[in-house]
Amino acid sequence: MALTNEYLKRVYDGLAERCANEKEFLQAVEEVFESLEPVIEKHPEYEKAGIMERIVEPERTILFRVPWVDDKGQVQVNRGYRVQFNSAIGPYKGGLRFHPSVNLSVMKFLGFEQIFKNSLTTLPMGGGKGGSDFDPKGKSDNEVMRFCQSFMNELYRHIGPDTDVPAGDIGVGSREVGYLFGQYKKLANEFTGVLTGKLVGSGGSLVRTQATGYGLCYFTNELLKTNGTSFEGKTVVVSGAGNVAIYAAVKATELGGKVVAMCDSNGYIYDPEGVDIDVVKDIKEVRRARIKEYVDAVPRATYTEGCKGIWTVKCDIALPCATQNEIDEESAKALIANGVMCLCEGANMPSTPEAIAAFQNAGVLFGPAKACNAGGVATSGLEMTQNSERIYWSAEEVDEKLHSIMVNIYNACEDAAKEAGKPGNLAVGANVAGFLKVANAMLWQGIC
Ligand code: NDP
Repeated sequence: MALTNEYLKRVYDGLAERCANEKEFLQAVEEVFESLEPVIEKHPEYEKAGIMERIVEPERTILFRVPWVDDKGQVQVNRGYRVQFNSAIGPYKGGLRFHPSVNLSVMKFLGFEQIFKNSLTTLPMGGGKGGSDFDPKGKSDNEVMRFCQSFMNELYRHIGPDTDVPAGDIGVGSREVGYLFGQYKKLANEFTGVLTGKLVGSGGSLVRTQATGYGLCYFTNELLKTNGTSFEGKTVVVSGAGNVAIYAAVKATELGGKVVAMCDSNGYIYDPEGVDIDVVKDIKEVRRARIKEYVDAVPRATYTEGCKGIWTVKCDIALPCATQNEIDEESAKALIANGVMCLCEGANMPSTPEAIAAFQNAGVLFGPAKACNAGGVATSGLEMTQNSERIYWSAEEVDEKLHSIMVNIYNACEDAAKEAGKPGNLAVGANVAGFLKVANAMLWQGIC
């Protein structure tokens, strides 16, 4: 633990004792606290108002039973979560994750990160996250529907368009959001913007599906531009083959990059001519199959079992878009040895602290997740605005707003990094810029 500020150290140590089993959550808090030392030194009023003690404690944590019946008629039980972390600047907002690895630590790390990410978008959204240890993989549509309905039977009483607005995340795409929305509508007897990521034409916003991946590339492009370069002619590796990865690959290709590798949780494909994204979309979005089938359609490509190996593929730009801690120090060193010049995080917390340090020490341009992947929630915010006004914007209008939000986030991070005495360190910049607005709102609202 490298904290030197007494107040931050005391709060962190207390948290580490209380949450000893929540390693992902502690990792996220430590990373933010390290960046905030100069801010805390400069603003003694934050300590007086107990801002740090309060900001690491969720306002409310809801844990519930999700019983459902599988296709064989057997009763199954999963665990549901909603962590309503911080509502200082707006209603709780953050996705739902359905994955067997979901536990309280993962929910709290994601909810904590979401506070600062949402603040960076400049839209009025607080931070929250939720989900379940349910695995939609291998389940029939009917099983997924029954699960989602049971999940919503409890969740609906805790959410609302002005209270808490969930969205998708790993394992929760348009199909799941549809079932969740349908059940909310039935229970609450209202058609409101209570979830984002809805079907276009049923309250959904154009470009929401693409937003996180596109936003990641808009941010990356700004970072490259400031350093006198661009995606043009660059070799790109994108991990994952889900919502974020697919649309990051689409935009990186559109901006002149060549995506040579992608993966799922079983293994990775390498295509030296550039991945044919339509084939990946067909496999993952339409057929919900495994990425190894790519080589059946594109025989020039190769498939390798195990996803860690994707980081040994030589590239100029790396865009991790799968999951937390997917890049450890060893993978970071492999990327650096192969000459990576820029890494921007599409997934939440995909790099371990050791990996981040390795990139920064090697002078690799580094874009942190809470800034790089904020385009998804920003466009969810735009969906909420359209729902409130009962209008739809065109794809061009939404894309233009998304683009300008990402440019503004980049500039805010750059300015805040300079002000914190760490010019060029966008990880520090993102934390500081995101934190200040939330902390000041908490000060203004009193001890609550
Ligand atoms: P999806 O479920 O659509 O896709 C996740 C992808 O990552 C899948 O290809 C999945 O493979 C792969 N994956 C999951 N776990 C692992 C693992 N342990 N090792 C290797 N690969 C893995 O999720 P999203 O694309 O929505 O989310 C990806 C990341 O982006 C997450 O960190 C999420 O929190 C973050 N994010 C998402 C946003 C959004 O708008 N969707 C917004 C901001 C951040 P498989 O198919 O085998 O499971």
